[in-house]
Amino acid sequence: MKKKPIIIGIETSCDDTGVSIIQDKNVLSNIIIPQKIHKKYGGVVPELASRLHDKNITKAVQKAIVSAKINKNQIDAISFTLGPGLIGSLLVGASFAKSFSMGLGIPLLTVNHIQAHILSHFIKNANINNSYPKFPFLGLVMSGGHTQIIEVNDFFKMKILGSTLDDSVGETLDKIAIILGFHYPGGPMIEFFSKNGNNEKFIFSKPIVNGLNFSFSGFKSDVLQFIKKKLKKNTFFVKQNLSDICASIQKITAEILLEKVQKAILKTDIFRIVLAGGVSANSEIRRIFISFAKKNKKYEIFIPKKKYTTDNGAMIAITGLLKYERNLFDSIHVSSYSKFKTF
Ligand code: AMP
Ligand code: MG
Repeated sequence: MKKKPIIIGIETSCDDTGVSIIQDKNVLSNIIIPQKIHKKYGGVVPELASRLHDKNITKAVQKAIVSAKINKNQIDAISFTLGPGLIGSLLVGASFAKSFSMGLGIPLLTVNHIQAHILSHFIKNANINNSYPKFPFLGLVMSGGHTQIIEVNDFFKMKILGSTLDDSVGETLDKIAIILGFHYPGGPMIEFFSKNGNNEKFIFSKPIVNGLNFSFSGFKSDVLQFIKKKLKKNTFFVKQNLSDICASIQKITAEILLEKVQKAILKTDIFRIVLAGGVSANSEIRRIFISFAKKNKKYEIFIPKKKYTTDNGAMIAITGLLKYERNLFDSIHVSSYSKFKTF
């Protein structure tokens, strides 16, 4: 029997160096080297991120090969994130992937990072549903850099229906988290401290944005102003109300996201929803979408396993494999891009 192709995926768009090897939609290895240095700066410092990718990339690749129990000569193609993301970080992954492709004489596959978040659902057993979503579906990508509703008609036939006009949802949670005294990334800390909180104690304004676009900066300012005002009167306000504040923020965030998806369903008549991106790790967001889907048998909701929500090499490798199967190879002369372009 012919050997199934083995693809290596390289992800360096932000602050995690991710390298994964997959074969036949099975993850053979998935290595992530996170960058803790950004914690003390309250956000990702681009210059430091690229330097650390440069330091860690060969280590991550070597680890991925060893843990996949393969030899580098068995790899059939290399895929890497071309964009969007931090340009210095992307260039590290691109240079590595191009050299690897030339050195081993294997094809190069470029990956759009947003597309990869969605296509991570095509890794075997990548979601809690343990099944692949059928087309068409609505993808909701919510991450540190992006918030988008995408109509997905096929693996590489995607159309953006709505995007954030300002901050992404992850960025918003991370910025709010700083004022609550957490370090970057704050999203998981907000989730942690919201346990046992009263999610109706504090009401923050929801942005009014027509159509399917999002806006999070107004919501963020509302929360920040509210907390600053309360702190002036009582310096212990955050400490005394931490779990209620976190639970209330989380609930409103989940509602903003769900309301837009409901609008998208009405507009497109597509009832299948696929969540992706780091913020989709959040249990309250998962809970609110699952309970929405229970209301009507027509709705289907796909939730990624937590390890595939934040940036990882496996989502780049699966997108590479899907491209490989369709002969969608790229030239060594491609250029990385930081801003989102069309798919
Ligand atoms: P990504 O850009 O896809 O790697 O996602 C990173 C973003 O996801 C950051 O803004 C994190 O704060 C956010 N994030 C990760 N886990 C959670 C969580 N459990 N709840 C809320 N946000 C989260
Ligand atoms: Mg991402």
